[in-house]
Amino acid sequence: MPEFNPTQYAVPLFVVAVLAEMIWAKLRAPEAYEPKDTLVSLSFGLGSTVAGALLGGFAITLMLLAYDWRVVDFGPEWWTVWWAWPLCFVLDDLKYYWVHRAGHRIRWMWASHVNHHSSQHYNLSTALRQSWTGAFTFGVLFGIPLVLLGFHPVMIAICGGFNLIYQFWIHTEAIKRMPAWFEAVMNTPSHHRVHHATNPRYLDTNYAGVFIIWDKLFGTFTPEVDDEPIRYGIVKQLGSFNLLWSVFHEWIGMIADIWHAPWKHKLSYLLREPGWSHDCSRETSDMIRAKWQVRTGIEVAPAATSVADRNPIAGSQEAA
Ligand SMILES: [Zn+2]
Ligand SMILES: [Zn+2]
Repeated sequence: MPEFNPTQYAVPLFVVAVLAEMIWAKLRAPEAYEPKDTLVSLSFGLGSTVAGALLGGFAITLMLLAYDWRVVDFGPEWWTVWWAWPLCFVLDDLKYYWVHRAGHRIRWMWASHVNHHSSQHYNLSTALRQSWTGAFTFGVLFGIPLVLLGFHPVMIAICGGFNLIYQFWIHTEAIKRMPAWFEAVMNTPSHHRVHHATNPRYLDTNYAGVFIIWDKLFGTFTPEVDDEPIRYGIVKQLGSFNLLWSVFHEWIGMIADIWHAPWKHKLSYLLREPGWSHDCSRETSDMIRAKWQVRTGIEVAPAATSVADRNPIAGSQEAA
């Protein structure tokens, strides 16, 4: 089966859509685009492709090694098993949910994923804001169960490519709501705006890639409310359009924290959630939301509050 990367073919579509949204923004929402910010986002997109080409070999090698240990075998012509494709797509999306959730709850992984969130704008160019340092998070390990289930690494990569293409169009403010049935099952601009928001009620929710059902199933879904303007970005805004600082700021911050922390807390700065500190001098998203709830008396859906922690790694660090 020939190598096929669907994302490459989608690039012209991305360019046309970004230009169309820029025209929409000029007429309807001039604040949606900021030229310097768009330039940083596009550089992230370009750089992540280069980083993928340079560092992706490790992930591919690991997946191919694991494939030798598969417990199910779709045969030598695995790509002809038609039903394996939709099944792989759905399971890969489930995998995406967990990688993404870990990307927000484990600082080591957040150091890379923060790149996707550091823009204070929300438009189609934000979708292209992809990390350069994903290879250092070992997120590839989340895909191993799929390989062991017999899905060939190439099939998984193609499904992952289509998953990423799907997520492009949801990075927009131009679409308010899709039909109710669609909002119920699929990830949409409305659901993903919530994910990019820093408003306390929305923090660390809606991790979905294609199907929003995973968030509903695992208790991390929060619907968008219409009477509260969204503030996009990260809790502590970057305040800079310097590309290299944008790429590496969280890695630098994390390494500095580990360096300065007492020995028994060093590992926690790697594995606990962003904002955690051993002396409680900073705030995690759960602390921010809890304070906001006390201040406003607003009860958000239990789903959003219960995100608090099911991060088993963080839990085991509690005693550290
Ligand atoms: Zn995210
Ligand atoms: Zn996004």
